Amino acid sequence: MFTSKYNLLIMSITRNILQIKSTLPQNVTLVAVSKTKPNEAILEAYNVGQRIFGENKVQELTEKYDSLPKDIEWHMIGHLQTNKVKYIAPFVSLIHGVDSFKLLQEINKRAAQNNRSINCLLQVHIAEEETKFGFNEAEVIDLLVSTEFKSLQNISIVGLMGMATFTDDENQIRKEFTSLKQLFDKLQTSNFKLQTLSMGMSGDYQLAIECGSTMVRVGSSIFGNRNYH
Ligand SMILES: *Cc1c(COP(=O)(O)O)cnc(C)c1O
Repeated sequence: MFTSKYNLLIMSITRNILQIKSTLPQNVTLVAVSKTKPNEAILEAYNVGQRIFGENKVQELTEKYDSLPKDIEWHMIGHLQTNKVKYIAPFVSLIHGVDSFKLLQEINKRAAQNNRSINCLLQVHIAEEETKFGFNEAEVIDLLVSTEFKSLQNISIVGLMGMATFTDDENQIRKEFTSLKQLFDKLQTSNFKLQTLSMGMSGDYQLAIECGSTMVRVGSSIFGNRNYH
């Protein structure tokens, strides 16, 4: 039987996604990170039941939203610039990387213009690297108790997101995920209704789940390595 190279690629997406899904606990949601990947690859995952996809570039996200089935839930997982919120506000279902109050205000404003409410996760800086975006623990708490925050009617903070240090040191990663889980639990007991703890990528999602993750963002383990040109 004739099998093109592309069909082999496709078959491996199906196999990868079914394999990963079969290992996830019931309370853990899989975000299939499709950045840089073509619509055909996304549709293959879609055809085995995947409905949540994550992208990290606004233009790519809006183009894929326009051309793919409308029952896909699109998550913005990357760093989001304030001036680009308007492009995704009509349809985005979760913004993972909210890292400033200014950004939150803009999301609120654009959500209101679209007569909707947008779910957001606050990104918390847990890694050692200086370059990763995010709030520290005190800033998260300050934000959630502030009156300015309470006046935002068109956003909903549904959880936290974090990225561990890029390292082979499992203890280091575990320590960072655990610190985020502890903050999540602390907020939970102080009356903030958080449901989602987004942590874990291809290299560390099993560890993240052990540490309490409820949402994993997996790209290359599903779609293969990304080629950047
Ligand atoms: C690219 C990306 C991922 C997925 O990374 P993989 O290692 O390919 O699974 C997860 N989260 C964020 C924020 C990303 O930018």
